[in-house]
Amino acid sequence: MRIILIGPPGVGKGTEAELLKEHYQIPHISTGQIFRSLTQTDKPVGKIIHNFISRGEFVPDDVTNDVVAYRLMEKDCEKGFLFDGYPRTVFQAEALDNMLKEKGQKLDVVVFINGKDDEIVERLSGRRVCPVCGATYHLLNKKPKVEGLCDFDGAKIIQREDDMPETVLKRLTIYRNQTEPVIEYYKEKGLLVEVDGAGTIMGTHQSVLKVIGELSDID
Ligand code: AMP
Ligand code: ZN
Repeated sequence: MRIILIGPPGVGKGTEAELLKEHYQIPHISTGQIFRSLTQTDKPVGKIIHNFISRGEFVPDDVTNDVVAYRLMEKDCEKGFLFDGYPRTVFQAEALDNMLKEKGQKLDVVVFINGKDDEIVERLSGRRVCPVCGATYHLLNKKPKVEGLCDFDGAKIIQREDDMPETVLKRLTIYRNQTEPVIEYYKEKGLLVEVDGAGTIMGTHQSVLKVIGELSDID
């Protein structure tokens, strides 16, 4: 199963990705997560990446596509994959098409999780992440078991620097300009299904499984 999750920042793609990963037993590939771990290393590229992320801007397409090409070479991707946060530009979508073509592979479905701007801003402002394992939490609707600490490793959870209010608005504008055309791109190819990300985590998950089943006959 080869799936792409697309949608505005903060709509719950990461949370849904964790559930789909379990359901289909495929690797969850988050370019944002890969980039954040690169910023923790002393590789020069980490610094460059950090500059883009902290401003709420996209990492350049060539860097992003390279990271993905390497990740796709790993053995676990043979049984499929789930992209979360990639592709975010039409150029990236075309590059991914070429990568898959070379492997003789095809995408099964692109799941568009939609949400309204005010809900998104609300979600991002309450979002907290674990700097160690990347798990995400929300101050209101996805609290850790012990306040302020990650359920998996006990690390102190923090707010992402790009979840600060000014940066959030910039990310939304970039999403509208750069990523919405990608949604059109997949719609034209007949690969797109859409769900509303406004409900509960499990509600959204059920809708996602339903629309995937309708498009691809796989459950
Ligand atoms: P995310 O965790 O998906 O919200 O990604 C965090 C940040 O990483 C984004 O705001 C971008 O700066 C960068 N990023 C992640 N994925 C991509 C991508 N496909 N293209 C460009 N930049 C990306
Ligand atoms: Zn953790």
